[in-house]
Amino acid sequence: MNSNAHVAIVGGGIAGASAAYSLSLTQQFDRVLLIEAEPQLAMHTTGRSAAVLTENYGAGPVRPLTAASLSFLHDPPESLVDGPLLHKRGLLTVATRPEDHAELEKQLAAGTKARHPIIELGTDEAQLLAPHIELTASHRTMWEAESHDIDVAALHQAFIRGLRLHGGEILTSNRVDSAHRNTATSNDKPWRLETTKGPISVDIVVNAAGAWGDLVATTAGIKPVGLQPMRRTAFMTASPFEGSGRFPFLVDVLHRWYLRPDGTQFMCSPADEIPSEPCDARAEEIDIARAIELINAETKLNIRSISSQWAGLRTFGPDRAMVIGPEPTEPSFVWCVGQGGTGIQTSPGAGQLVADLVTLANPGESFADTGLNVSELLPDRLRG
Ligand SMILES: Cc1cc2nc3c(=O)[nH]c(=O)nc-3n(C[C@H](O)[C@H](O)[C@H](O)COP(=O)(O)OP(=O)(O)OC[C@H]3O[C@@H](n4cnc5c(N)ncnc54)[C@H](O)[C@@H]3O)c2cc1C
Repeated sequence: MNSNAHVAIVGGGIAGASAAYSLSLTQQFDRVLLIEAEPQLAMHTTGRSAAVLTENYGAGPVRPLTAASLSFLHDPPESLVDGPLLHKRGLLTVATRPEDHAELEKQLAAGTKARHPIIELGTDEAQLLAPHIELTASHRTMWEAESHDIDVAALHQAFIRGLRLHGGEILTSNRVDSAHRNTATSNDKPWRLETTKGPISVDIVVNAAGAWGDLVATTAGIKPVGLQPMRRTAFMTASPFEGSGRFPFLVDVLHRWYLRPDGTQFMCSPADEIPSEPCDARAEEIDIARAIELINAETKLNIRSISSQWAGLRTFGPDRAMVIGPEPTEPSFVWCVGQGGTGIQTSPGAGQLVADLVTLANPGESFADTGLNVSELLPDRLRG
């Protein structure tokens, strides 16, 4: 890397912010630019999540990336935060019907090997933790004590503060409309980005555009990887229970619904996955109505009204894993997309991995004991 190198990160959600922060920390770039189309950062999927950290969730590279993120999440640099990023919550998974017990056993088996294992709880013990569900003899439950709520706004802000402290720049209301390769003979930098506010020349482009990742690639002449945005619905409702702010996160073992206490309310979701185009996602009334019916049937919330509703796009690669790393035929175009349903809890690790792959060409020491197999993330796996 020459000392005059410039890097642009396209997309100011959690993926772009964490990558920009980690790239700025390397001190290998003269300019680190975070470019966001919207007037505010994090207003798409990042601002719409359930904000949960669970070490025992996700397949393939998700757990290694989560493991690599834990030290930042638990113990962020003091200069970047005003308080903790995590608040202990605990997660109770419920198998309601006998036919769901096999899935619970599968998840238990995977979770017993974890650093913080999942344990099965008897229904009496689980009932004390979760008065908002009626547990009967046909229920089985498992408990992950070390699950936390993440303060997503503070986490995103920590990356932004760190980026600014290390000299990075943030450009909002600035859509990247296209990217062009300058010719090898030109004296200009390799990439010319056409943006709302004018052209920008850089050496490296990091694509962290979430649901728009394939569109950004296409405008740069790079083959899409096959991202699929999936809409997920959520809403808030008042809690009918005293002290429910201390209740655990409650999730159905087959992920048909979940509830997260939030002060005197519950955030509820039918955990739906509805294919969508990249867009400013909105909750559909029919999905909210179905969710209320389901959650009322399975819990004691007795929802009659809701106070707010929203939807967000969880975007997946074709094999459901993230796509992180340089495009094989054009290594100065770097992917950081497909964060799916775990982009918040994996963000410190994913951002670090982008910086490692750009500057070292390999995962660095943060990934030493995580079991990361980087080939499960590299775009190479999706190129025939
Ligand atoms: C209901 C719900 C619950 C979730 N719960 C959790 C959870 O509990 N834990 C967890 O870890 N994850 C969770 N997730 C997933 C998590 O929110 C996402 O994985 C993560 O936010 C994705 O971040 P991102 O930066 O890739 O995308 P985004 O936040 O969408 O950011 C992409 C940005 O790129 C910008 N952009 C696009 N095109 C351009 C362009 N051409 N020029 C400039 N900017 C551009 C967009 O405006 C956008 O701001 C949840 C998601 C949803 C919807």
